[in-house]
Amino acid sequence: MTLRLKLTLLAASLACATAAHAGVIKESKDSIFKPTGKGWGELDLDSMSHPEKAATLKARRTSNLTYQGGPVMVAPTNNVYYIWYGSNWDTGNGPASKSVLTTLAQSIGGSPYFNINTTYYNGSNTHVSNSVKLAGSITNSGTLGTQLTDANIQTIVTNAISSGALPLDSNAVYFVMTDSATTATSGFCTQYCGWHTNTTVSGQNIKYAFVGNPETQCPSACGANTPSPNNTPGADAMASIFAHELEEAVTDPDGNAWYSLQSGMENGDKCAWTFGTTSLASNGAKYNVTLGGLKYLIQQNWTLLPSQACTMQYP
Ligand SMILES: [Zn+2]
Repeated sequence: MTLRLKLTLLAASLACATAAHAGVIKESKDSIFKPTGKGWGELDLDSMSHPEKAATLKARRTSNLTYQGGPVMVAPTNNVYYIWYGSNWDTGNGPASKSVLTTLAQSIGGSPYFNINTTYYNGSNTHVSNSVKLAGSITNSGTLGTQLTDANIQTIVTNAISSGALPLDSNAVYFVMTDSATTATSGFCTQYCGWHTNTTVSGQNIKYAFVGNPETQCPSACGANTPSPNNTPGADAMASIFAHELEEAVTDPDGNAWYSLQSGMENGDKCAWTFGTTSLASNGAKYNVTLGGLKYLIQQNWTLLPSQACTMQYP
């Protein structure tokens, strides 16, 4: 029981990550609670006293998200680009894994699940749209090696754009999807499972995210279950991380729109590692949603309506 609780907390605290360990993504001098896109981890629970920890966890559970005035992604369509990084995507179950994640990106838009994000809006009361398009995907066989720094991950994105392999698109989130042999040195598996942030390319605000493959590196920390709904444990775990980062990117792309002032959590963080009602697939794997004909176990998301809470669908 004790061990199980510890593992659960560990997994929960790894939803996404930390600025303290990760190098500065978006440092704030006025508050340690400003989101970095790496989620919870700005607060290192392990270094806290019991009263601090209790207060932090309570704040995480109870604090609502509020609008802080920054931009929200409100284009009619939210584009997604995949960058398949590493040499293992084309061997073994790599192609099947890519297919699982491709179907997800092609099918999440228009779903009752993604519709949760339409409860979020900007200062002009324009709401996030329930439209997602997988607008392109490319392969990078591993030009920067298997130990990626945050700077490397940004370079992978900016090089994909500057080379013309992917378009310059400010209405998009570029996802660096690493293979099972690649890690991110700022804390994949120990501080986060994925993260999102933004940068400027050719004068455009470009949103991008990292999603790691935990299949062999950290199945317990980042949720790669066996069996998994599509018999691709790494990709099935990445599906939930992808959903988490996408919903955070559209509602808080620059880290200054929708988050909790008390905890620094964005919408995905609020519901990390909660799945609502699950069903059992024929292979015994748990799943909670069917998209594009495939079963997925993806985390709940935080809705603003009818009242703030975790849910799998809106309305
Ligand atoms: Zn997060």
